[in-house]
Amino acid sequence: MKKVEGYPQPLGVTIKQDKVNFAVSVSSGKKCELLLYRAGKTEPAQVYEMPEEEGLGEIRFLAVEGLDVQKYEYNFRINEKVVLDPYVRELARTRKFGEVPDADLHRVRGRFPTSFYDWEGDHILKLPFEEVVAYSLHVRGFTKHSSSGVKQKGTFAGIVEMLRGLVRGYANVSVASSALSRSGRTVMGKCPRCGKDVVEGKKSFFCEGYYDTPPCGFALWKNNRFFASKRKELTRKITAALLRDSRAHVTNLFSERKGVFYDATVVMVDDGGKYVRFELEFDKRKGAK
Ligand SMILES: [Zn+2]
Repeated sequence: MKKVEGYPQPLGVTIKQDKVNFAVSVSSGKKCELLLYRAGKTEPAQVYEMPEEEGLGEIRFLAVEGLDVQKYEYNFRINEKVVLDPYVRELARTRKFGEVPDADLHRVRGRFPTSFYDWEGDHILKLPFEEVVAYSLHVRGFTKHSSSGVKQKGTFAGIVEMLRGLVRGYANVSVASSALSRSGRTVMGKCPRCGKDVVEGKKSFFCEGYYDTPPCGFALWKNNRFFASKRKELTRKITAALLRDSRAHVTNLFSERKGVFYDATVVMVDDGGKYVRFELEFDKRKGAK
């Protein structure tokens, strides 16, 4: 195991072949060391200086060659105070719930990441801002009370336990929720472009393929010119009919030219552009035009 030249980015630990790179932000004038522990031991087995003159700006960095990441753990020591890597991914010695760890006694240490979390294709939702309802949850606060009934208090595993309980408890609402899309919105019908669910948003009925990459751009805007000029609201009912049959019979459309109301069939014409077009088919029987 020997210290070799490292690189300043990214911060934290990066493992490449037989080199482990360490980078940490430390303000100027402070002493910084890398502490390496044998797993399970509380005294560092190896200490490497990370002097300011070898750093870049406020970033101190170095790499260690031949470090067995399975057998070692690490911390930094800045001005004689032992600190965890702010970018640490995993801690050694999972502490007891509620117990305050003492890094100075080397009781908590960083573990080297040996496996990476598999997001299984999950990606950022790219939700339009006005469609976002955000909830936050305090993991520890939510699970620490005895009434939570979970075994693994204060952990994400505890949240999972609670969710299982909630899902069981609300199993009987599954029938009602079958009309809900994956984002929990009411489904109006299927997208004519990609076949995914079309759901209701504040300003439009849009395809949930909007969240895909590349996004499906299908949407029926509530404030669209066609319906506005006919003083007609694009209702859920009309939307559902348009999605099902590409047409909807609509009553009491207003004619600006004649100043009268009439009934007609609105036909949805989708040529794949940003906006869907609408055309009218008139009811022959009534002769209105
Ligand atoms: Zn679509």
